[in-house]
Amino acid sequence: MPTELSAQDLDDLRVRLRAQAEGLRAELAAVDAQMSTLYADCDRDVGDLGAKVTAADRLRADAERARSLLARTQAALDRLGTPAYGRCAVCGGPIERDRLLAVPHADVCLACGRGTGGARGRGAR
Ligand SMILES: [Zn+2]
Repeated sequence: MPTELSAQDLDDLRVRLRAQAEGLRAELAAVDAQMSTLYADCDRDVGDLGAKVTAADRLRADAERARSLLARTQAALDRLGTPAYGRCAVCGGPIERDRLLAVPHADVCLACGRGTGGARGRGAR
């Protein structure tokens, strides 16, 4: 089982990251549209306001999650093809190939993601 990303892996990851970014942009556009609909008739039905606020909060949380994932996806696309891609942002060690194939936008290694420290924390000596 290779631990280094091959050129084929990188191509696959680029395609997946692009598709992911596109999906997230579509999701954000949909959230925006729902948000507008939600507020368009806001004053008409005061009794419904509580439910609308809850729905708006949920939409806002969705948008926040999608936006943050999109930023990480975009950052990964920017790193792809540079030596920075596949390097842990915390410990500087290599990110596991399996992890990148599972989570293409991962920017920290498994150990740092778990908070147990990376290459440095593992004790080089
Ligand atoms: Zn690390």
